[in-house]
Amino acid sequence: MRSSLLFRRVFTLLAAALILWIVLTAILYAFIARPVFTDMKAREIEPLAHILADRAGLTDDSLDNFVHETVGYANEMFGNWMFVISRNTPFIFHTPLPDSMTSIRQEIVSTVSDADRQLAKADSVVFTKSFKGQSSAFLFVVVPIGAPLDGPGSLAIVQPMSEINAGILSLNLALLTSSLAILLIMIVPIMLATMRILKPLHSVRRVAMAMSAGDFSQRADESASGEFHDLAVAVNHLAGELSSLIAQLTFERNRLRQILNSIAEGIIAVNKEGLVTECNLKVWDVFGVTTDMSRPLSPDVFLQTTKLNEFFHDAMTMKQDVAHVISKDHRQIYCLITPLINERGTHDGAVGLFRDITESERLEQTRRDYIANVSHELRTPLTAMRALLEPLAEDMVRKEDDKKRYYAILLRETMRLSRLINDMLELSRLQATDDSAELCIVQLEPIISNVLQRFQPVAEEHDVSLSAPGSMSDCPNVWSDPDWLEQIIAIFVDNAIKFTPKGGDITLGIKADSDTAAISVRDSGVGIAPEDIDHVFDRFFKADRAHNEPGTGLGLSIASEIARQIHATLSVKSEPGEGSIFTVHVRTADAAIKDMPVTIDAEESP
Ligand code: ADP
Repeated sequence: MRSSLLFRRVFTLLAAALILWIVLTAILYAFIARPVFTDMKAREIEPLAHILADRAGLTDDSLDNFVHETVGYANEMFGNWMFVISRNTPFIFHTPLPDSMTSIRQEIVSTVSDADRQLAKADSVVFTKSFKGQSSAFLFVVVPIGAPLDGPGSLAIVQPMSEINAGILSLNLALLTSSLAILLIMIVPIMLATMRILKPLHSVRRVAMAMSAGDFSQRADESASGEFHDLAVAVNHLAGELSSLIAQLTFERNRLRQILNSIAEGIIAVNKEGLVTECNLKVWDVFGVTTDMSRPLSPDVFLQTTKLNEFFHDAMTMKQDVAHVISKDHRQIYCLITPLINERGTHDGAVGLFRDITESERLEQTRRDYIANVSHELRTPLTAMRALLEPLAEDMVRKEDDKKRYYAILLRETMRLSRLINDMLELSRLQATDDSAELCIVQLEPIISNVLQRFQPVAEEHDVSLSAPGSMSDCPNVWSDPDWLEQIIAIFVDNAIKFTPKGGDITLGIKADSDTAAISVRDSGVGIAPEDIDHVFDRFFKADRAHNEPGTGLGLSIASEIARQIHATLSVKSEPGEGSIFTVHVRTADAAIKDMPVTIDAEESP
């Protein structure tokens, strides 16, 4: 507290008041002390003067004796000088004067004479007078000898004031010394008093400082009385109110931030100067910005670098929503900036909403492609069928052979349509279910045998050989669904037969390690161009862009959906003109069982 400015000021004020009091007392004393002391001295001398005047007597003899015995030795006896005016003689008798006073002897004599004349009106005449060349004034006490004016003369006692002055000076010094001592003694009480006065104020100050630093838990001491008590109560009330208000605001702000952060869209709010006031975390996700927590990206800098601040500026100046779709790092981002218009019709800022529409755009594109593909796939057989049905309906086909041929084509196209619709239904059914298939331990040998049996007649029809060389007996069991797995292999074999020219070979093979088993279908067919190989699993993809070849372009999409459900993966390798290898990779049963969590049945445990 002692280092506080207020303490120093109050302490200095009190100390200055004390010093001023001492100085003023000394000055006043100096002025008052002189007349008081002079008066005291005069009162002391006056009775002596009257006694001596009486002793001087009324006769000339007694006066002579008095002059010789007393006046001559007055300086030695009383420390002053006596002047006796005798009316009967022209002389004035006086105590021998020191050398320093001989020059003013005449002036003293005339002063005493003047005083003698005043004795008609008073019992005694007392006054002080200064003389040129003398360091101090003189006190004159003049009394009549006998009756005033009628008596034989008058007696004047001249007392140099230097003695009185010395007394006054030593008293002054004593006063000053004692005042200084009082001042020194009073410093500690003044200090304590200052501290006591300022203590409640200091307590209030501490609370105010803590509040300005954001700490509202501090409270001022209310034990003081008067204004300090009122001040402490007011400050404590203010601290309490502010504390609850700030807590409320913090709660509201955190809740708002939580809400903003839980919104799926990125949100940025700016004030009317265009500076960011709120920004949720989703913004960084939407724009694909990875934020370093130790050095987070400033939203204001982000708005400037992406030039999004221009959209905000446009929305605020035009006072209407501004919507844009921007591209950033292969992302499509929808931006909607809405100005915040207040009741005065001016804007207080703007809020921007940012949504990553890449996926929805892709889905929309897929949907458009799907409709286009389906329409195309349906139109081809329908056009062919219409071209045949019209002449048949108008009875323009006369020959029985032609009619038979037309009907055969109509049947084939109808079957093609039916196959297409079946495949589409199958694919959408598979895509609609998110659940995985129930998996179990599956033996590969029966599956391969089934596929060979199913497709052997078709292969023979196409004049290609279909075989599964090598022993299957040492193949590990796999963790899969037997029907779905067979379906995938069947799709591979079906394609292999379709895309292998006459005389070609199709072989089924299994490669396995402890973790996975790879069942592959290798053909010596037309192969797939490198630019097509990534698209063979896409819906409606056909290397034959004209879609003249048999097939719906959905087989491998269906295989890929089935693989997703049985936790298998598909791969393809191909060389144009050399053939292709389609492989399905599944986990071995041993590996899958090993990774399963162990559960103990409580009833069976001992
Ligand atoms: P599709 O029902 O038309 O066979 P898929 O989805 O099964 O449809 O196959 C898509 C496309 O992949 C085929 O049209 C073909 O171009 C190519 N393809 C699939 N399997 C083979 C293969 N074994 N050899 C060459 N091309 C193939």
